[in-house]
Amino acid sequence: MEAVLVREIGGFELVDMPAPRPGPGEALIEVSVTGLCRTDLKLIEVGHRDLALPRVPGEEVVGVVREVCPGTEDEDRAFGAGADPASFEVGERVYVYPGISCGGCRPCLRGAGNLCRDMRIMGFHRDGGFAEHVVAPLRSLVRVPRGLADEAAVFAEPFSCCLNALELGRLSDGDVLGVWGAGPAGTLLTRAAVLRGAEVIVTEPDERRRERVEA
Ligand SMILES: [Zn+2]
Repeated sequence: MEAVLVREIGGFELVDMPAPRPGPGEALIEVSVTGLCRTDLKLIEVGHRDLALPRVPGEEVVGVVREVCPGTEDEDRAFGAGADPASFEVGERVYVYPGISCGGCRPCLRGAGNLCRDMRIMGFHRDGGFAEHVVAPLRSLVRVPRGLADEAAVFAEPFSCCLNALELGRLSDGDVLGVWGAGPAGTLLTRAAVLRGAEVIVTEPDERRRERVEA
């Protein structure tokens, strides 16, 4: 398969490499869309503490299940998206939750696997989605609802962060929200807040970004 490979910090190359093989409890995903975020560019330009080289980056992936390998994965790597791992079938469209939490540290034990101190992340510790195929634990798969385009579903993780911020801020109808910057996260946050009935004031020096956030 073709893949983007980072061999050393500062650059990347397009390579032909064997497709990954799923192990017990994992699925082979044919990648449809992979999000490119600032973290990916930072990873390539200056590296990252969690990065092990060589590596195929890409941590925001939507694709189609092409192979399911049943079996129990390591039970202490317990993060799940809620769906029964045994329920996935070939041909389903899925979003891949990129993190695998340890299941044993204090945040994990109180249900905050997203704060795991030993989080293993797709695109950093294991190969990610800038490739034709990627392997992911069945527990990490989230079904993409019918009618939601791949290009929209790939925003699941950053959009979830925005929704979480609005919930923590207890934003409600009629509130006024200030958003600093209309990059991808600022734009998602603005749109989510408007949908919740808030008035949003955005500061953004870049004219194209201003136009996009106003659209
Ligand atoms: Zn943990």
